Amino acid sequence: LELQVRRNSRLATIGQIAAGTAHEIRNPLTAIKGFLQVIRHKLKDSGQGKECGYIDIMLKEIGRISNLVGEILLLSKPRQTDLRAVNVIKVLREILPIIKNEALLHNIDVSFEKSVSALPVVIADGEMLKQVFLNLSKNAIEAMKRGGKLSIRLATMAEERQLRVEIIDSGPGIPEEVQEKIFEPFFTTKENGTGLGLPICRQILMELGGTIEPDSNESGTTMRFYLPLA
Ligand code: ADP
Ligand code: MG
Repeated sequence: LELQVRRNSRLATIGQIAAGTAHEIRNPLTAIKGFLQVIRHKLKDSGQGKECGYIDIMLKEIGRISNLVGEILLLSKPRQTDLRAVNVIKVLREILPIIKNEALLHNIDVSFEKSVSALPVVIADGEMLKQVFLNLSKNAIEAMKRGGKLSIRLATMAEERQLRVEIIDSGPGIPEEVQEKIFEPFFTTKENGTGLGLPICRQILMELGGTIEPDSNESGTTMRFYLPLA
């Protein structure tokens, strides 16, 4: 037990250092980004297209760093979690427009289906739950490069007193050798990925007493998670 306590406090310290570092990186990045945009503007006005291209690359790379830093902050920051009874349908309805909008840009149809025999209420922090929905939908959308269908299904499993949520895409699926790594922090197959979306989802769901598992084949991926009903 003592070992466990020591390990946990060391992890907490590492988390604090990560959050602190991420924060300290973010501020100077904002300044660098701002001035690069000014320089880019000036170069464009004076017709220096090649140099503009360099600045574009710098801005893109800065975008990557700032995504990464944002996700490290999410993962490591000791959050003030606001646990209360929340209706998952309500939470989902609040972010569905964001998901639909992003899907529309990528030629993806979104459907939301529910089959609930009990009130889909769980004890959770609504903001954290939104994070899970957004991360999983984002992955689904990113997987469907040539458009497709995204279904979000919600069902209450009355007997097991569980809520089941499925985020289903018609993308190419996750190759078997990749599947075992997708929850590892920083594992990504994307050029601009951070590899932190799924570890964040899993951590949040674990904190709420839930579980998550992928179910994938060549005709698509279902990310399925369960939460205990309140
Ligand atoms: P990121 O999205 O930044 O790569 P994630 O942790 O969200 O990081 O996902 C890790 C990896 O899992 C992705 O790079 C991708 O290879 C795989 N993945 C996750 N969701 C899907 C999906 N719906 N379809 C195909 N691959 C997926
Ligand atoms: Mg992701």
